[in-house]
Amino acid sequence: MVALLLAGCHSVKDSEALARFEFNEPHMGTLFSITLYARDAGEANAAAEAAFAEVAKLDRMMTDYDPSSELMQLCRRPVGEPTRVSPELFELLAESLRVARETDGAFDITVGPFVRAWRAARKSKILPSAGELARLRANVGYEHVRLDAKTKTVTLLAPDMQLDLGGIAKGYAADRALEKMRRYGVTRALVAASGDIAIGDAPPGKAGWRVGIAALDGAAGELARTVLLANAGVSTSGDSEQNVEIGGVRYSHIIDPQTGLGMTNHIQTTIIGPNATITDGLDTPTAIMGVERGMKLINGQRGLAALFVVREGMKVETVVSKEFARRFGVGGDTVIIYR
Ligand code: ADP
Ligand code: MG
Repeated sequence: MVALLLAGCHSVKDSEALARFEFNEPHMGTLFSITLYARDAGEANAAAEAAFAEVAKLDRMMTDYDPSSELMQLCRRPVGEPTRVSPELFELLAESLRVARETDGAFDITVGPFVRAWRAARKSKILPSAGELARLRANVGYEHVRLDAKTKTVTLLAPDMQLDLGGIAKGYAADRALEKMRRYGVTRALVAASGDIAIGDAPPGKAGWRVGIAALDGAAGELARTVLLANAGVSTSGDSEQNVEIGGVRYSHIIDPQTGLGMTNHIQTTIIGPNATITDGLDTPTAIMGVERGMKLINGQRGLAALFVVREGMKVETVVSKEFARRFGVGGDTVIIYR
């Protein structure tokens, strides 16, 4: 009798149908899209609402457009004075400094002063002068940020520092949104924030979510490749709309901390990894580091895969990491596999 009852329950659960739902909301200067599978609209709405609320909370905390955000308040604290911050901000600052060390400073959240100068240059079409760049450089450098894990405090060691989490916050927010939905019982979900995607369990009956990697400078919808992913992050840098051309040279919105100017490499990097915080953190610096150094970094870590599309003159090349070739195949356009 008991066994029969259990068997009955089991079959009901198995045949339970999940429906697909989609939600979109603007956050962090872009559109956040959630695709999820849930038992009904009530469950789907509750999970999506909680996920968007989490993203909105993180945006308020970390935006550099609002002087009252927690991050901007931190930047105004006196030099050398420890400041206690929220667990989320502490966690993301810690991850940002880890990426800075691992990329020899190619990723550096203290580039804020350079980012502001770049935004002004985009409007005026005049590059900051060497003198101006030297002056700003005194306020830049991730080694001027100290974290104390015990007290959850942050100490800034240079004056007028401007922290900019724009290179990693969208991936982190997408991860946190996915995590929120999990607590509502929704595990088969995907959160996309333009180039940054956090991916949970696969759709019912599928091995993963199919994600397209955009072609370099491609027309909307043109893809370099598609990959099948579950429980992963994927990020692509190199938004071709965010360039400025000055004196015949293209400067990206990604700042090379060495020069203080927008990067001039014509490269798009896609990183696949365990979560979107890690992949968002790495898509920006690997673009600056270029193929050789960038691929060496990716190949040196388990669980990371990358596809770079590089233009030199009229030549466009697709380069994939060792892990990418193993997991997703090489594809007709791949010219080099970095080993
Ligand atoms: P997007 O999806 O906007 O292309 P990215 O992940 O490529 O985002 O990050 C670009 C943003 O990161 C810039 O808009 C700026 O706010 C910030 N940023 C620029 N250069 C760097 C750098 N070298 N290290 C860390 N953050 C940077
Ligand atoms: Mg990034």
